[in-house]
Amino acid sequence: LTQLEAEIEERKKAEAEARQHQIQKESAQELALRKEEFMSVASHELKTPITSVKASLQLIERMVALEEKLQSVEPLVKRASRQVDKLTGIVKDLLDVTRIQEGKLELFRSEFVLADLIAENIEQCQPTESKHEITVSGDAQLTVFADRNRLDQVLCNLLTNAIKYSPDANRIDIRFEALPDGGLRLAIADYGIGIPEDQIQNVFDRFFRIEHTSQNFSGLGLGLFISSEIIKRHGGQMGVESELGKGSTFWFILPRLS
Ligand code: ADP
Repeated sequence: LTQLEAEIEERKKAEAEARQHQIQKESAQELALRKEEFMSVASHELKTPITSVKASLQLIERMVALEEKLQSVEPLVKRASRQVDKLTGIVKDLLDVTRIQEGKLELFRSEFVLADLIAENIEQCQPTESKHEITVSGDAQLTVFADRNRLDQVLCNLLTNAIKYSPDANRIDIRFEALPDGGLRLAIADYGIGIPEDQIQNVFDRFFRIEHTSQNFSGLGLGLFISSEIIKRHGGQMGVESELGKGSTFWFILPRLS
């Protein structure tokens, strides 16, 4: 009888544990869902006031430029405007993450010359204070059939990272080529801090950032996640090779789609 009682006791205990486990699992799922909902709502809510502040600043900037007496205000307005651009970038990234999670990242493909996009990108994404010389090599006539704005976003993310994570280097190399199957491969090489071997497999994860002990780099850990998702949506693939202290090469392959 005591053995039977012990068995029943044992089974009850196991059931209670299983119930507890199930509850924990459900609340973790609920929490994750609530976090995602929060992110989506918060970024939508932030978008409207930021857009409105930006519009006002642009107007003030124009008025200040016309009034000689107000010219000392100009740098302040410019600085505020740059900060608003940064906020806009953050909100855009958060909205993109939501879009990706909901499977709503749409592509609008067109045919364009890749070298032109790269040239525009270097012009627009390279911060004025950057001292890097950026070399580009590849067929200047090569055309791609892809979402131009989204590819621009990918290139800008990779280029700003290459600049940001190579503060002591002065060179970045962009190379691209057509593949025998009609696809395309592009690589951006920097000669910067590199990525530790044990963390390299995580760099494309959402919100993943490496704690670089020597320096503080700002960021949310979303650029590479969004970029690799954009490339995946095109049917392509993104990867990285890196050596700590020597530099990193981020690359992607796009299949020929038309
Ligand atoms: P963020 O730069 O905002 O932190 P990313 O998603 O662009 O986010 O990058 C994720 C992490 O990968 C960064 O925090 C950084 O540690 C690492 N990383 C990205 N690009 C490079 C690079 N070119 N060289 C070294 N580390 C990099």
